Amino acid sequence: MDTFIKKEHYNFIKKCLSDLNTTFKCCTDKNIVETCKLSTRDQIFNLFEALTEEQITLIDINTLQTALDIDSYTKKLDGYVYGMAPITNAQISKLFKKEHKIKMPDSDAQDTPHVYLSWIDESIRKLFIVYPINDKLVGMACRLPNSNSKNKHICTLCHYVGDETEVACVSPVCKATSSDAGAYRSISFDVCLDSKKCNDRITSAEKLENLLKDVCQIK
Ligand SMILES: [Zn+2]
Repeated sequence: MDTFIKKEHYNFIKKCLSDLNTTFKCCTDKNIVETCKLSTRDQIFNLFEALTEEQITLIDINTLQTALDIDSYTKKLDGYVYGMAPITNAQISKLFKKEHKIKMPDSDAQDTPHVYLSWIDESIRKLFIVYPINDKLVGMACRLPNSNSKNKHICTLCHYVGDETEVACVSPVCKATSSDAGAYRSISFDVCLDSKKCNDRITSAEKLENLLKDVCQIK
């Protein structure tokens, strides 16, 4: 069987199962546990448009009864997860033509499935994000803040809450719209600095897509 579970959906399934696990542990009413399980099962199946019999058997949580079952279930799914297709340094350079000699992502950055690719170039204090929209690679270069406050931030993409060493308010360099050519557009958003951790938490790519469409003026 080929990979068929998007990375963000895998994260969503894990989150649902973590909630279900809490119900397993804390709830003694069998009916409530069963109802929770049924609704979790629906949530998981709703992620997919079409599934083969084999895939249905794999993702069905019907037989899960304990935390251990949940553990082995997620481990089993692990082998069927896919993320964005690997991209080359040449593709990255092409995406960020305006930036001079940017640092490329670490060589192991694309070894595991990820929803989006992101890395930091400390020398120019920028965070880069690359993601495919309609099979076309889109990238944004975001300025990192200079301040180092202890304020808490919530990552727009995965909703993790952390101080500025973990989640920072970044400002992407925006493409001007045709109507205000040359005008400066300012957007900023909070995002995890450790993209590996963010990629393990993000349960939907919708916010990221909307941000990129706005920044890069994609209709
Ligand atoms: Zn995040």
